[in-house]
Amino acid sequence: MYKSRAEHIVEVVGDIPRFRFDQIHKALFDVSLNSWNQVSTLPLNMRESLEQEVPWMSVVLVQMFESAQKDTYKAVLKTLDGKNFESVLMANRRGQWTICVSSQIGCAMKCTFCATGTLGLKRSMHSDEISDQYRFWNTFLKSKPELPQRISNVVFMGMGEPLANYENVKKAIHTWLKYTDLGPTKIMVSTVGILSQMQKLLSDPDWPPVRIAISLHSANQKKREEIVPTTVPDFLKRLAVWSHDYQSTLGNRTHHLTFEYTLISHVNDTPELARELASYIIKTAVSKVNVIPYNPVHGKDFTRAERSRIDTFKEILCTYGVNVTERKTMGDDIDAACGQLALSSS
Ligand code: SAH
Repeated sequence: MYKSRAEHIVEVVGDIPRFRFDQIHKALFDVSLNSWNQVSTLPLNMRESLEQEVPWMSVVLVQMFESAQKDTYKAVLKTLDGKNFESVLMANRRGQWTICVSSQIGCAMKCTFCATGTLGLKRSMHSDEISDQYRFWNTFLKSKPELPQRISNVVFMGMGEPLANYENVKKAIHTWLKYTDLGPTKIMVSTVGILSQMQKLLSDPDWPPVRIAISLHSANQKKREEIVPTTVPDFLKRLAVWSHDYQSTLGNRTHHLTFEYTLISHVNDTPELARELASYIIKTAVSKVNVIPYNPVHGKDFTRAERSRIDTFKEILCTYGVNVTERKTMGDDIDAACGQLALSSS
C-alpha cells in the first residue's frame, strides 16, 4: 500500500503539530535544500530519523533528454514503487519555464491519436508524485545556472487524465499554491472532458481557481466519437450546458475556459469542421481555441495537418470572431511534445 509522505513522516516521528508540517513543506520547496539533514528548522533528532526513513523525493531521475534547441527537456522519472513516467520542461514566451506534468502512469482514455493511450492505465499518481515534479524541475534548473531559473506555469498535459485522478490533482495544486509563487491562473488543467467530474468541481468549494482546457478535437459528435472513444452520447450538447454553468459559478475575466484542438491531417482539419467548430463555440461559454498541430506518434497512421490546412482552419475561425491561438511545437525531436509521452526510450 502506498504511503503518502505525510503518513510516512507521522509513522516515523509520531504525531506532530501542524506548524511542523508547514516547516517541512517549506523546506521541501526550498530549492537550496536537498536533504532532511539540512532542514535546520526541525529538531536534530527529527532530522536524523527522517533522513534515515523518509525519501526526500518521491520521484527520481532515470533518463534526461534535451532538445536540439535546448528549449525543451524531457525527464523519465521513476516512482518509489519502480514505475516510470515522463515530465517535461519547456521554455515559454516570457523567457521562463512551463512544466508539463503527468497525473497518471499511462492513461485509460485511449484517444486514438495519442501515444500515452497505447500504454493503458498503470495507476493514478499520488499527490506527492505530482507536486514533486515541480520540485524535481526546480532542482534541475538550479544545477544549470546558465538557464533561466523560474518556473512560471504548470500544465497538466503530460501523461494521464487529471480529472480521473481528481483528489490527488487537487491536493498537488493546493500544495503548489501554498508553497510556490505560482498563482492559480498559471496552472492549467487539461481534460478529455469527463462530464461527471466537471460537474463535481462546480460544486466543490475546495476546487482551486485554476484554468481549465477541454480537449475537444471536434465539434462534430460523430467525428469526436471516432477519435476520442470516451465521448458520451450528447457530449457536445452537455459540454455547452456545462460551460455556461461553469461561467456562472466560477468564471471571471481571468478564469476562462479554453478548447484544445489537435489538428490531424484529413481527419479533423477540414474547412467544414472549422465552420462547425465556430458555430459550436458560439453556443458555449468558451472564449478561446488553442490548435495543436498533430505530433506524430510511432505506430500510428495519423499525420500532422499541412501548414496551409492549419492556416485555413485558423482563418475560418477568425472570420467567425473566434479567438484562436496555435501551440508552438516544441521538443518533438525528443518525443516530448503533446501526446508523444509513451516511454518509448526507457
Ligand atoms: N488527458 C488530458 C491531457 C492530455 S495531453 C487531455 O485529454 O486533455 C494534452 C493535449 O495533447 C490533449 O489535448 C491531447 O488530446 C493532445 N494530444 C494527444 N496526443 C497528441 C498528439 N500526438 N499530437 C498533438 N496533440 C496531442
